[in-house]
Amino acid sequence: MERQYDLIIIGAGPAGMSASIYGSRAGLKTAMLEMGAPGGKLIKTAEISNWPGIKGTDGAQLASDMFEHSTAFGSEYLYGNVVSVADGGEWKTVLCDDGTSYQAKAVIVATGTQERMLNIDGEEANIGRGVSYCAVCDGAFFKDREVVVIGGGNSALEEAKYLTQFASRVHIVIRRDVFRADQIIQDSIKDNEKIHVIKKHKPLRILDDGQRVTGIVLQDIESNAEMTIECSGIFPYIGQDPATDFLKNLSVLDDNGYMIVDENCETACKGIYGAGDVIHKRLRQVVTATSDGAIAAQHAFHQIKGL
Ligand code: NAP
Repeated sequence: MERQYDLIIIGAGPAGMSASIYGSRAGLKTAMLEMGAPGGKLIKTAEISNWPGIKGTDGAQLASDMFEHSTAFGSEYLYGNVVSVADGGEWKTVLCDDGTSYQAKAVIVATGTQERMLNIDGEEANIGRGVSYCAVCDGAFFKDREVVVIGGGNSALEEAKYLTQFASRVHIVIRRDVFRADQIIQDSIKDNEKIHVIKKHKPLRILDDGQRVTGIVLQDIESNAEMTIECSGIFPYIGQDPATDFLKNLSVLDDNGYMIVDENCETACKGIYGAGDVIHKRLRQVVTATSDGAIAAQHAFHQIKGL
């Protein structure tokens, strides 16, 4: 049986939760559909120091505060793994993998991005056995052990710093000789004695003893020489891909799978919006995600009410 709403928000990260606040506060019958825990990437982030008004907090706390706020004005929070969105004109249909479907006058997609895999030997087989994409979730398992972080972006450096609380040594492997991360984040790790940076190397294969990770083989980008680092944990942080497979039937994605939206966060399909990391844009931050969510929900409200 289909359930009807004014506004369905897919994804309960910062963008979705912000949209939920704006939609429900405006009086729209609103629901947020989420397949995991609310918070999105926030719950995997150790430290947030660029959320205006709060100099420093941890991601889980901010996620919890936002979630409480996002359901405070009557928005429903529903479990759902969305497999498709169909544009039927005035009513859109959102279908979940268990066969449940919802109808809404407006849909805001705020599904964010998912971590990119290294796609090297030994990676998939060792997920949960030493390979992890979430330092905040798994870092404590590596107390007094050596770990390797792959990547030189903001995520890699922030999570490498977080891992130094537990690990005896954190090797950061980058394929160029410069980081991609913001200078302030680079500065925050440069005097950390536990951090060891290996430049101009790429990961080749992950080693294990049949039970757990024992090391990683790296290759020198210039000479092709191989070296092995013995370690218990590998944390790939090599970027993200948008979580938009379920939108492939709509013409709303760019070549990389990000949603193309206008200044109202609306796609070429009237009433279908994108907000947060999932849209084509330059600055992916909590603050820009919440801003997108507000813009999308406010425009959806205007459209539904014919204002
Ligand atoms: P990112 O900025 O795209 O950085 C990815 C890193 O992984 C780069 O150093 C890249 O190397 C490297 N890399 C990519 N593919 C690789 C491969 N196959 N093998 C080895 N290394 C590889 O990704 P991110 O750090 O996940 O950040 C994603 C977005 O979120 C960014 O816009 C970022 O600014 C934002 N973010 C912001 C904050 C913050 O403001 N506090 C925190 C986290 C994330 P190259 O540099 O050589 O390409």
